[in-house]
Amino acid sequence: MKIVIIGCGPTGLGSAWRLEELGHDDWSVVEAHDYPGGLATSFTDDQGFTWDIGGHVQFSHYEYFDRLMDVLLSPEGWLHHQRESWVWMRERFIPYPLQNNVRRLPPGELEQCLKGLLQIYKNPPPRPANFREWILAAFGAGIAEAFMLPYNFKVWAFPPEKMNAAWVGERVAPTDINRVLHNLVHQEDDLSWGPNNLFHFPLRGGTGAIWKECARRLPAGKFRWETRIQKIDLEKRLLHTKQGEAIAYDKLISTIPLKELIRAAGLAQFHDMAEKGLLYSSSNIIGIGLEGKVPDSLKTKCWMYFPEDNSPFYRVTVFSNYSPNNVPDISMNWSLMAEVSESPGKPVNQETLVEDVIQGLRNVRMLDGGSRIVSTWKYRAAYGYPTPGLHRDEALSAILPHFERHDVYSRGRFGAWKYEVSNQDHSFMQGLEAAERLLRGKPEITVNDPNHANSKKHPFPFERWK
Ligand SMILES: Cc1cc2nc3c(=O)[nH]c(=O)nc-3n(C[C@H](O)[C@H](O)[C@H](O)COP(=O)(O)OP(=O)(O)OC[C@H]3O[C@@H](n4cnc5c(N)ncnc54)[C@H](O)[C@@H]3O)c2cc1C
Repeated sequence: MKIVIIGCGPTGLGSAWRLEELGHDDWSVVEAHDYPGGLATSFTDDQGFTWDIGGHVQFSHYEYFDRLMDVLLSPEGWLHHQRESWVWMRERFIPYPLQNNVRRLPPGELEQCLKGLLQIYKNPPPRPANFREWILAAFGAGIAEAFMLPYNFKVWAFPPEKMNAAWVGERVAPTDINRVLHNLVHQEDDLSWGPNNLFHFPLRGGTGAIWKECARRLPAGKFRWETRIQKIDLEKRLLHTKQGEAIAYDKLISTIPLKELIRAAGLAQFHDMAEKGLLYSSSNIIGIGLEGKVPDSLKTKCWMYFPEDNSPFYRVTVFSNYSPNNVPDISMNWSLMAEVSESPGKPVNQETLVEDVIQGLRNVRMLDGGSRIVSTWKYRAAYGYPTPGLHRDEALSAILPHFERHDVYSRGRFGAWKYEVSNQDHSFMQGLEAAERLLRGKPEITVNDPNHANSKKHPFPFERWK
């Protein structure tokens, strides 16, 4: 069985790794770029600053994945961090999640937030039909208007009423009225909510070091670099490259964006469904390399959220806090990395973006003149976030099985288009599970049952696969 994998990001590498581990010899990877990693690649700029495509933090739901990370970079190759994330609004830092720390808001807004919470406890709203209704039902009108609605538009670049709420799960902190009241009365903060309150990061080379090493350990002859797939003939089982070459397969694992796969396979019947159901936003990443000392207010912070419109970014990471090796010389450099979302309904002026980000950083007091900008770096990921739109699941349930009937398995962040299982651990495991299915007929849990995938840490080895 000749298995071809398109794309050498975490998903493609998950398939390749497992096929090799299970001793299946006939596999190969075709990748458009000349490097592995996909969206989890890191780049070092001319001034020696290292950047990820947005702040990638490492946490996982799978012991298999955890062990692999240690195998690839060795346990000494990791730095371990306590997450410290904050919201900057109303000219102040408020610990994330905001809803547990509303006591830090100005009194008028605090009152509105508490009234909103009481309202939803008194009159529980009906089952929400979209993400906007979910926000209002979960947080009340006060918190929704102060933070959740403006912030979510900035992140997703789509109005929340165009999104479903099925993906939310563990990803958005729920509101616990008892905690809100406790923190208010005792003047306490909640600092480290959620599944990624501890995370680790490669000591050297940024996140991309993981995937470089993963690819390096696999047989070099099985990778075709700088080979872009343009057309797929589902009947003849042939891939056509941009260079005019044809590659035959028996089974295909595709990790390219599903919309591109539909186009390459010429499936016009899915065009409208994909346009309506497969929404996405682009991610613009702007790195600012600095000379000077990291200000005391940012020394222990990992990342910060920005819901207000005095800055173009929704999130900024103090990337030099993740590893001292992310900057040329930690005794005299530090770095910030900003993320700006983009969609047809939220365009971005690429010409002025870097300047707009720098001005935004000044507006929110991240840059106070004490440090000198010595480097700027910019990256645009055309496919950044797979938006969980209202018609997504309907589209996926028609399109993915159609491809599978032709022995094409579309997996990964944009291959399966499921935001809730699109981090590195999920993506790698989607690729791995596809390989397991092809060779040993095992069910694929991550892509088919995201809630189960996210419900716990899955033990090694594969206890859930009977
Ligand atoms: C802003 C941002 C922040 C993120 N933060 C985190 C985080 O904190 N933690 C985390 O775990 N994950 C994070 N992620 C997600 C992480 O990057 C993804 O999980 C992962 O990269 C997805 O892997 P993939 O292999 O499915 O897709 P990709 O990484 O997109 O890889 C697909 C590969 O296919 C190749 N390709 C595309 N088209 C073709 C073609 N026609 N022919 C040949 N090759 C092709 C591409 O070049 C690419 O290498 C973040 C992503 C973004 C954008």
